[in-house]
Amino acid sequence: DIKKVNESYFGSYSSFGIHREMISDKVLIDFFAFGGNSCGLATQARTDAYKQAILENPSLLKGGVVMDVGCGTGILSLFAAKAGASRVIAVEASEKMAAVATQIAKDNGLWRNGPQSEGNDKSTSIIEVVQGMVEEVGKSIQIQPHSIDVLVSEWMGYCLLYETMLSSVLFARDQWLKPGGAILPDTASMFVAGFGKGGTSLPFWEDVYGFNMSCVGRELVQDAAKIPIVDVVDDHDLVTNAAVLKSFDMATMKPEEVDFTASVELEPKSVCSTSNSLELKSMTTWCHGVVLWFETGFTSRFCKEKPVVLSTSPYTPKTHWSQTIFTFREPIAIASGNSNPNGSAAVGTDASPAKRIHLRISIARATEHRSIDISLETSGY
Ligand code: SAH
Repeated sequence: DIKKVNESYFGSYSSFGIHREMISDKVLIDFFAFGGNSCGLATQARTDAYKQAILENPSLLKGGVVMDVGCGTGILSLFAAKAGASRVIAVEASEKMAAVATQIAKDNGLWRNGPQSEGNDKSTSIIEVVQGMVEEVGKSIQIQPHSIDVLVSEWMGYCLLYETMLSSVLFARDQWLKPGGAILPDTASMFVAGFGKGGTSLPFWEDVYGFNMSCVGRELVQDAAKIPIVDVVDDHDLVTNAAVLKSFDMATMKPEEVDFTASVELEPKSVCSTSNSLELKSMTTWCHGVVLWFETGFTSRFCKEKPVVLSTSPYTPKTHWSQTIFTFREPIAIASGNSNPNGSAAVGTDASPAKRIHLRISIARATEHRSIDISLETSGY
């Protein structure tokens, strides 16, 4: 039942290891070393992205009332306090972590014991920790509805939506955020791209000290076709372009938009064609599955001084989210190069590979498990 699921979910956040993993997920990178992206913004991994968005946009945070949904250790609340927020309401469902966040705020001279205790030094007594699910703490928060200036939360799960914490953030937005108030991050996009054999366990088992153990590789691929795997994919193993599967606007999206169906076309990654372009050559690549990842944006809508992107793509350094890998039951042959001389014909044969892969993905919350149901259909043509 839902109560048990929540108990085990919040229980899992009571261990310090997971919080250390999240806080450590912070590699600072110079994005331009990775080829840049369309908006030319620097991308940061998790904790640094939030730190920059909160600390380097002083006009957003200064003097404001902030709510941190799911504060964990309170790291985002501490950033907000440091950025000059006048009051930070840190909500955390895990009893253990709420106690820890309180202790940490106290140890750093930033704890505020409820709005009444104005005896404290106002300049430092900023953070109040409220224990409970954000959906249920209404009475414990002494603040009017729609009076929060900035809502901040790190709600993203594997494949963006696993854990379905986004619904809780949208609940908090609708309950507490001022009209026109800021939400950090304010955009989230899911991307998808096809991967080749190198993204499977086949190459490893094909040559084990010179012996062919590919029967193991084939069995692993069959297993992988049943359930998505969270792991890192090397960008060199991608065989198609990346496509945006879905974009969310956290400021305006409706809670029910979390469940969606989207279609994308994946085209073979363009090959460097420095050779004779008159030669009608078609190279066949096998696409063994697709990989999903996400980016969240702290865009200039709210982060006017310093917009930030948090990326979990195979093209940027790995994060604790890795990527999510969906293996096809059968690989699909796709043609790269500038033509398919045999015209269209059956898909999946070397002679006449598809020109692109059509992918239809549905994602829906399975709230009773705090998981998501994903269905994926492909066709090549
Ligand atoms: N903000 C912290 C922790 C992020 S992990 C950081 O950035 O390091 C998400 C946290 O949200 C967990 O500690 C989890 O217990 C909490 N959480 C998830 N859903 C919640 C809800 N509905 N209400 C309150 N807390 C929630």
